[in-house]
Amino acid sequence: MKTEIYTIPIQDAFAEESECPVCRMYQKLEENAINYTIGPGASYMEGDIREQSDEQGFCQKHLEMLYEYPNKLGLAMMLKTHMDKTAKELKKAMKAPLPQAAVLFKKKSQPVHPVITFVEEKEKKCFVCDYINHSFTNYINTIYYLYEKEEDFRKQFAASKGFCVNHYKVLFSGAPEYMGKKYLNEFLMTLNETFINGYERVRDDLEWFICKNDYRYKEQPWKNARDALQRGLVKAGSIMEAEEKKE
Ligand SMILES: [Zn+2]
Ligand SMILES: [Zn+2]
Repeated sequence: MKTEIYTIPIQDAFAEESECPVCRMYQKLEENAINYTIGPGASYMEGDIREQSDEQGFCQKHLEMLYEYPNKLGLAMMLKTHMDKTAKELKKAMKAPLPQAAVLFKKKSQPVHPVITFVEEKEKKCFVCDYINHSFTNYINTIYYLYEKEEDFRKQFAASKGFCVNHYKVLFSGAPEYMGKKYLNEFLMTLNETFINGYERVRDDLEWFICKNDYRYKEQPWKNARDALQRGLVKAGSIMEAEEKKE
């Protein structure tokens, strides 16, 4: 298979043993993004980048990951200027007239208060998610590209263990826009088949896992079910950490 610098992360992810290669790609991107945000490059000391993180803030998951990273001072500095900016914007929003008791607005609902609009908008933003999403779209498009260009990749794709339900949807929904008509049908059919086969395989492993917790099956072999729960978490909820932490 031909390898270009931008196809490496995709080829690596598909070469690994996992219940969703796209989760693998996402996880690597996430590690890079956390590193970029708070790691040795200290991107947060650059004015334009800091302006972005001040404005966007961070989602709950990435706040936790940033907190786990051993750079508490860097995180404190980023949080402080983010909080400065948020307080400034909220003080502006607070100047709008206060909401009235709901009973006065029985017929038509009262306008949404700027405080609520501001916080709701903020909840949708995250500097780390944003950084990941830029590359993630390119990664997904590279999967389509490799499928169209490389016979070896088509085989590897078909032989994969399938995908989590979320990334199955991502691959399914993007294909018609990105792929030419020569391979689109074949890709979607192969995608459906690999997904459902992998999904039902893990479902069967889970069934056996449940049986094995029943004393009547105590003497039976475990087959492939020891880590069925961790793999089930990947298929159902893209929780890759569980698969990694399996005993
Ligand atoms: Zn996934
Ligand atoms: Zn995030």
